[in-house]
This record gives sequence, C-alpha cells and structure tokens, in this order.
Amino acid sequence: MNANTPNMKPGHRKSVLAKTTKYPVVIAGPCSAESEEQMLKTAFGLKKLQGVSIFRAGIWKPRTRLGSFQGVGTIGLEWLKTVKQETGLLTTCEVANASHVAEALKHGVDVLMIGAHTTVNAFLVQEIADSLRGVDVPVLVKNPVHLDLPLWAGAIERFYHSGIRDLGAIHRGFSTLDNAPYRNHPKWDQAIELKDMLPDVPMFCDPSHIAGKRSLLRPVSQRAVDLGYDGLMIEAHYNPAKALSDPQHQLMPQELGILLQVLNIDGIDA
Ligand code: PEP
Ligand code: MN
Repeated sequence: MNANTPNMKPGHRKSVLAKTTKYPVVIAGPCSAESEEQMLKTAFGLKKLQGVSIFRAGIWKPRTRLGSFQGVGTIGLEWLKTVKQETGLLTTCEVANASHVAEALKHGVDVLMIGAHTTVNAFLVQEIADSLRGVDVPVLVKNPVHLDLPLWAGAIERFYHSGIRDLGAIHRGFSTLDNAPYRNHPKWDQAIELKDMLPDVPMFCDPSHIAGKRSLLRPVSQRAVDLGYDGLMIEAHYNPAKALSDPQHQLMPQELGILLQVLNIDGIDA
C-alpha cells in the first residue's frame, strides 16, 4: 500500500453504496442511449423493479470499427436528465475524456464510469482525474480490456490522488486468447486479488460484458453475489432485438426482474 492507495475507513465511506439502500446495488439500463423514447420506456420498466438504483446508458461508445454506432453524444445526456427527473433513479454514463466529464457534470449525471478501453490509457485516466480535482462525484473504474491488475489499481489510485473518495471498481472480464464460453473471461481469482489489493473500494460486477449472451447472465451474476460483490451492472433495453449495440445480451426490464428474483441474494427486494 502506498500513500495513493484508497484506504477509506468504513465510517468515511461516502460511496455510491451509501446513496442507495438496496443490496446489491443494481445499475441497469441500455448499452447505448438511442432515443428519448427508448430511454424512458426502459427506465420506467426498470423503476418498477424495486431492486434497481442507478440507470446507465452509453452516450459515447468506444467502438472497434469506424462505421459502428458511436453513440448519440450530448443529446443523450438530456435524455438521461429526463430519466432522472421522471423516475427519480440516479444516473451514470461512461466518460472517456475531460470534455465528456464536463458535459456529464453539466447535465447532472450522478456517477461517472471509466470504461475498459479508457482504463488501459494512463495518460487519459490522468487527464480525466485532473479534470475532477475539487469535484465531488462518485467514479466507477472498469478493469482494463486485458488482464493487468496494476493498471486497474493504478487508475483507481489516480482518482484517489485527485481527491475523489467515492470510488468503485467494475469487473467486466478480460479479453484473453480463449474467452469461451464468455465474451470476456471473468478470471474471478484476479478480480478477487484486486479486492484484496483495495479492500475499501466497493466491487461491482458487469455480467453483461463478461457473458456476452443472455444465457450466461444468471451464473455470472450468482458467482459475483456469492463472492460478496457490492453491486451488479446489467444492460437492459425495452426492446433488445432493436438495440443499436449489444442486442445479444441486453434484457428486457421484466427479464431483469426475473433474474434478480431467482438470484440467491439476501436482502434484495426486486
Ligand atoms: C459499457 O459498459 O457500455 C462498455 C462500453 O463496456 P466496456 O467498457 O466494459 O467495454
Ligand atoms: Mn454494452
């Protein structure tokens, strides 16, 4: 442990977890914001599930190939604001540079997320962390695309060093040469190692991007709960077949409700 290692004492832990009363904290919403109608239909469906605390939507999408849907950009933040006003759900989106941060904060996004493709880039993480000096906002940091625990821990430490005390880690699996049957191999032992390295940082699981398919969401989510993760982030869309990104693993809100019900979780109220 060094001076930059997050070591918030439990009593000081003013985390996203503290803003929510449910266990585990469930973050849900579409992979991408596509239209105001899609956002509101999905959000009202999720609001009905008592277990969902935070609504997510990708505004800027890091895509591999040019020509893929790159996200709607700033207009999506207006829709996110409407979701918050209409449903009372907290909101989160991925930010991948300092101007995204400024836009997201201007639109009242409650929780910022650093995506796997950003965590890999220490310069970019530092630029984002610098832009957050003096700002009081929770930041959730996904693991980098490939297995590199120091890079993941280092990104979290950069935010801590910038004064962010409300931090969380999101385990979204690692791209390996042999991912099967997953989209990104969970390598649970590695995520547990990060938990051990940063015991005061709440750990979320992103079963959607680990699984890449609906059929694996339940076992992956159950494993995370069994391992004592603090929260789950699961992608949901009112009509997954029409989704502009990740149609293969998004759940309809009612399907997410069923998943939360069948998970063996003490205390969830879904
Ligand atoms: C996402 O959660 O929308 C996303 C892009 O995931 P990742 O950063 O894990 O690839
Ligand atoms: Mn997605």
